[in-house]
Amino acid sequence: MTSSPFVIKKVNMFSGWVYDLPKNTECTICRCNLNTHSLYYQEKGIHSRVLTGICQHSFHNECIEPWIKKNKHCPICSTKWQVKTEVSEIVRVTHGQ
Ligand SMILES: [Zn+2]
Ligand SMILES: [Zn+2]
Repeated sequence: MTSSPFVIKKVNMFSGWVYDLPKNTECTICRCNLNTHSLYYQEKGIHSRVLTGICQHSFHNECIEPWIKKNKHCPICSTKWQVKTEVSEIVRVTHGQ
């Protein structure tokens, strides 16, 4: 096998990332910053995704999902929960160099 001429360079190019969050930067369910993974996912090493509702509040996907199954309202403002956007990693933060 010859090695691929294409070199994957993006791995570890970024030392961090932040979400562009309209209102809250902390997930009130697991009390972690939304720019970090939820507690559950930190343990498992899985990337959290963040969902923003029509009320502009944001939560980890895996935190709001079980909550919504029971409550159907935003944990912060009690607006009926409806996902407005799935926030992706909008702003990448590069360090140094
Ligand atoms: Zn969370
Ligand atoms: Zn809300």
